[in-house]
Amino acid sequence: MTKRNYATVNPCVMCQPMGSALAFKGIEDTMVLYHGSQGCSTYMRLHLAHHFREPVDIASSSLSEKGAVYGGRESLKKGLRNVINRYNPKVIGVATTCLAETIGDDVPAIIREFKEEEGIGEDPKKDIIIIPVSTPSYGESHVSGYIKALDAVVRKFTEKPEEEGSVKIPNGKLNLIPVESLSPADVRELKEILEFIAGDYIFLPDISETFDAPLRDNLPKIAPGGTPLSEIADMSNSLASLGLGIVSKNLALEYLENSCCVPGQSVPIPIGLSNTDRFFTELARVLGCAIPEKYQKERGRLLDAMVDVHKYLYGVKAAVYGDPDLVFSLTTFMLELGMKPVLIATGSKSRDFGTKIRQIVEEIRPDLEPVILDGIDFDSLNDAVNECSPEILIGNSNGKYIAKARDIPLVRVGLPIHDRVGAQRILTVGYRGSLELLDRITNTILEATDTFTAPVQAEPTAYARGTEEECTEGTQ
Ligand code: SF4
Repeated sequence: MTKRNYATVNPCVMCQPMGSALAFKGIEDTMVLYHGSQGCSTYMRLHLAHHFREPVDIASSSLSEKGAVYGGRESLKKGLRNVINRYNPKVIGVATTCLAETIGDDVPAIIREFKEEEGIGEDPKKDIIIIPVSTPSYGESHVSGYIKALDAVVRKFTEKPEEEGSVKIPNGKLNLIPVESLSPADVRELKEILEFIAGDYIFLPDISETFDAPLRDNLPKIAPGGTPLSEIADMSNSLASLGLGIVSKNLALEYLENSCCVPGQSVPIPIGLSNTDRFFTELARVLGCAIPEKYQKERGRLLDAMVDVHKYLYGVKAAVYGDPDLVFSLTTFMLELGMKPVLIATGSKSRDFGTKIRQIVEEIRPDLEPVILDGIDFDSLNDAVNECSPEILIGNSNGKYIAKARDIPLVRVGLPIHDRVGAQRILTVGYRGSLELLDRITNTILEATDTFTAPVQAEPTAYARGTEEECTEGTQ
């Protein structure tokens, strides 16, 4: 579809280390340090702070020209010492950036050396845990950075010394491990559902407080909240793991299944009717309970709204873009609503993306033949939009220039949303979230076309100021 493939122009993904920050920031008392040049951490701090409207501290080993030539060993050790002195964290996530990977620093070895020098052991109860993740941006995107960081965290906290063997003390809990696309409001909604149905659960990573904190008098150095470390260590004793997202791999869930014998199952992000049904059905199956009446009523309300808005949404041509799993769930919902997704795209390189999207289109609307693209940049997306002529865009705020150029509306979903406030409060998951999204899409279309009020609206002239005689009529 794209006519230019000489270079990436305006990427439709974010840097791989940024994904690791999204995961690490959902863990109790954790600080992130990027091993690389300072600009990487500045850019990613700003990017996340503009989206979540929260201060986002990310340290940097600040590699200089000298470090680039002779290696970043000393810079990384100095960075770690500074982070420990200033933040006193329980965990430090060390993610590499392009420069550190290009010069070939052996980060795990440097960390081992640093711990020996500083007398830091491996006991999470008294020692600082340092977790390295390899995240060069020229390899993959924020999606894989998030997946790798979660995997590294789970491995670190659940691995047991050989002498302890693999004795399990079942805790009866359910692990919930979502993909990277959720907002703090989504996490709060999912936690409320789990609280109501499961009672005991472990949610990893929990960004509900860390990326959307209440105003405090004294700003803590590390935002309170996140998944407690003791709970992460307990994930290997859980009843089962439920992953949210079926396009991207869930390495943490796979590790728990293969190495800790915790059965795992992934379902799509619960956006829309069928995806939310699958989520609740899987919850009920794992926990051996019925779906509570409260959620059956919410489902009924969503269905009612879908019937109400069908006449406005049916056949509306849409383009949707963003992270693979978010796009999958949004596409499913649009198909259920009778919309016509003509262009479905992600900036991530993903072989499974096209397969999964084709499957769901075949299942719900086999008559449609949307253009499906992965690994695209915004330049290619622009070309594709010009060819497919959608009437609405659904995706992050970086698509606003395409929307403006074509004079079509954009419904902002996903990350980043930099040109509006409230991204951290956007709810899209569950029956309630789907209902809110449905209202947003419908009202955006109505605003753009004015079809809702047109048949009954009085002519604007009816409000024109009358003559003096008319105005005084009836006052005598
Ligand atoms: S692309 Fe690489 S060098 Fe550039 S900001 Fe991202 S991690 Fe840093």
